[in-house]
Amino acid sequence: MRESFLHFLWRSRRFDAQNLRTTELQSIEIQVVGEQNTHAGPDFFNARLRVGETIWAGNVEMHLRSSEWIAHGHSNDPAYDNVVLHVVFEEDQPILRENGERIPCLELKGRIPPKLLENYERLEHEQAWIPCEHFFRQVPDIVRLNWLDRLLVERLELKTIAIADTLKATENNWEEAFYRLLARNFGLKVNAEPFEALARSMPLLTLSRHKSSLLQVEALLLGQAGFLGEKLKDQWPRDLAREYRHLAHKYALEPLPVSQWKFLRLRPANFPTVRLAQFAAMIHQSVHLFSKILDTNNLRELENLFDVQPSDYWRNHFQLDKPSIIREKALGRDFVHLLVINTIVPFLFHYGKTKDLEEPQKRALLLLEDLPPEENTLVDGWAALGIPARHAFQTQALIHLKTRFCDQKRCLECAIGNAILK
Ligand code: SF4
Repeated sequence: MRESFLHFLWRSRRFDAQNLRTTELQSIEIQVVGEQNTHAGPDFFNARLRVGETIWAGNVEMHLRSSEWIAHGHSNDPAYDNVVLHVVFEEDQPILRENGERIPCLELKGRIPPKLLENYERLEHEQAWIPCEHFFRQVPDIVRLNWLDRLLVERLELKTIAIADTLKATENNWEEAFYRLLARNFGLKVNAEPFEALARSMPLLTLSRHKSSLLQVEALLLGQAGFLGEKLKDQWPRDLAREYRHLAHKYALEPLPVSQWKFLRLRPANFPTVRLAQFAAMIHQSVHLFSKILDTNNLRELENLFDVQPSDYWRNHFQLDKPSIIREKALGRDFVHLLVINTIVPFLFHYGKTKDLEEPQKRALLLLEDLPPEENTLVDGWAALGIPARHAFQTQALIHLKTRFCDQKRCLECAIGNAILK
């Protein structure tokens, strides 16, 4: 058993509260359980209780065993002076204040409904893909769906932290911040860091001065990424290298080390060289991308915005100087959908929140409902449990549930866990 289980029992009052008594047999009436404190100090603040004939307003501290009060050094800590009740699973030692007075103690052992305790132990020790695997589908739909709605918003809020940081770094320049995080997501997981570093070292303003020439935009990006430094054979890369040398001199640019880009175990379509060429084509088509996104009304219009073709050279290349079979290099629909999920939706959501506009926030959520479910092992895992997702809104919420709650066994903070432990 973990102490968090006692917190759960106390805040939800899911223990036998009839004829409550301290271990010294004084009656207890709980009027207000207090607010849970997740920082340093007692576990619940501002509880209100009647112990014996006295009404107490103060804090509540919890431990599995009362002796932990001493082991945790609370005896000499003034933060615990205002504890009016010590709630424990078991009192193995009476606890005294500095003045020798005994701290009222409530023992929960024997007051926990057996079924609830059994289900809790099962969740605690279950080794399955998710601890509540055997219970999940018994939870009413309304509980599950409301919880997934909340998780989706929590996930979006987490994603917006990076946006807020980037906005701060760009002095609130939405276009520049969007460009940097779009670049990061063009790199997918493997090349996210170098892509973002590249965007930081190559301001959108510089690219915008050359946006009418795909050759120059591609030269700036591939050159700055470090891909144009070696002796190149094909004419197009040599033209790019020449352009980059000229522009690098003009803007005092220092290329990034090419060694940071990863190709290993990537499908050729995801090679950073191809993604950079596509990114260049995006910039060539539209520098003020975020403003354009704000003007779109639906997923189709967004997909059209991302309908770009890199330069012809890439039709039969995945890397410089290495010919391949002819394959169109337009951005694939699945990739565009990932960009919508990971960049556009969080940006719209954050923009709406920052500007206090409901419409962009609503549009962000509607976009997720319009997008097909993502395909990955986490989504497959839920489907295997009989929880298929109908759209990206649900896949995003389910991914968040699995990675941020189930994997950390946060069942006591989860609405589904709370329903199971009724
Ligand atoms: S966190 Fe929630 S959904 Fe995940 S295993 Fe626990 S109770 Fe189930």
